Amino acid sequence: MLTVTKDRPLLTTITGSLPRPAWFNGNLLGRPFSVVTTELGYREQYTDAVQSYLADQTRAGLDLLTDGDARCDCDMGGRSWFGYPAERLEGVTGFHVARGNTPSSRDKVPGDLMFEVIEARVLPKVTGPIKRGPLEYARIWKTAQRLTRKPVKFGAICAQVLTSGLHNAYYKDRRSLLMDMSIAMNEELNELADAGCLVIQVEEPSIHGTVGIVDDREWTGDFLVEAFNREVNGLRNKTEVWCHSCWGNPAAQRTETVARSYQAALPFFNRLDADVLTFEAADNGGADLEAIGKEIAADKKICIGVISHRTLQVERPDEVAALIRKALQHIRPERLIVSTDCGFGRQGMSRLHAFYKMVSLVRGTNVVRKELGLPVADVLAADPKGALIG
Ligand SMILES: [Zn+2]
Repeated sequence: MLTVTKDRPLLTTITGSLPRPAWFNGNLLGRPFSVVTTELGYREQYTDAVQSYLADQTRAGLDLLTDGDARCDCDMGGRSWFGYPAERLEGVTGFHVARGNTPSSRDKVPGDLMFEVIEARVLPKVTGPIKRGPLEYARIWKTAQRLTRKPVKFGAICAQVLTSGLHNAYYKDRRSLLMDMSIAMNEELNELADAGCLVIQVEEPSIHGTVGIVDDREWTGDFLVEAFNREVNGLRNKTEVWCHSCWGNPAAQRTETVARSYQAALPFFNRLDADVLTFEAADNGGADLEAIGKEIAADKKICIGVISHRTLQVERPDEVAALIRKALQHIRPERLIVSTDCGFGRQGMSRLHAFYKMVSLVRGTNVVRKELGLPVADVLAADPKGALIG
């Protein structure tokens, strides 16, 4: 059900992750969050980092905030997005250290940055039935939400892409593994919803990376829809459910060497049990907006990225406004949410770049809000009286 975005045309947010402050050098290293936060040093670093993430988003004028994925360790190519749950689930023990140096991904060769990223994704090993472990999503969300009156969205990796990053040494096939993973995640996400989280974002089902791209006999589009809907089962009675999709984030790269289109995957996205679907639109110049507007049913809201996480050049507000206007040719403002293509990552760009990209996102949205007669957001960072220095 819609909660935060109900009756809020052109609401603004970001996908999730933010660059770490240089002084935030603590890591959870596979240990439970509630255990490590008993260490005073980590506890202070963590809560101060989350407060600075929330303050930056508030000064930028965003409507719906995130905790910057502060739970994720600072490791190679954003590995912790996978690693955080993989290292805590029951049924996952140790690692599968591959022999040789050939990652299995289909179009990466030595000499490509993404080859090194994938080489560093040492696969956790599935050795027993997958069950919930100490992921503590509810506790982590509450830590952020008690620091602000604005709503905090909680996002986490989808069971599908998480399963792709595991070495299966237990289940007879990948379908059984994925269904058990989806059930374990569903229990975790229901606890998060019960704790009062108003927006839950499930990140990266494998649909758009599979349908029309690889002939996967086990993980078909239909099966991936079934698995996603099992993962979010029951959530929409309690909270607003988002499905995030993009074309990759590790080290600010696309995961594939060529740009892809969402078009073949859209009928499957349309069947997801979600209130809001997110799509990249900045990096591809809004190439799929017309198809998205046509294919996605009116009962779902559409969130588009108007800011790229892959470039350092900060988008100008007029560029952001132009992309929103292009989206409005195909999607009504009541259904449109404005965001970033993906998270800013922990090593993709500096805090400075991420901050001014967020400011530009809201300034550009304000331009269109004015044109439509909608209330504009207060952007403290763009207020001459609110300048940092001088
Ligand atoms: Zn993403």
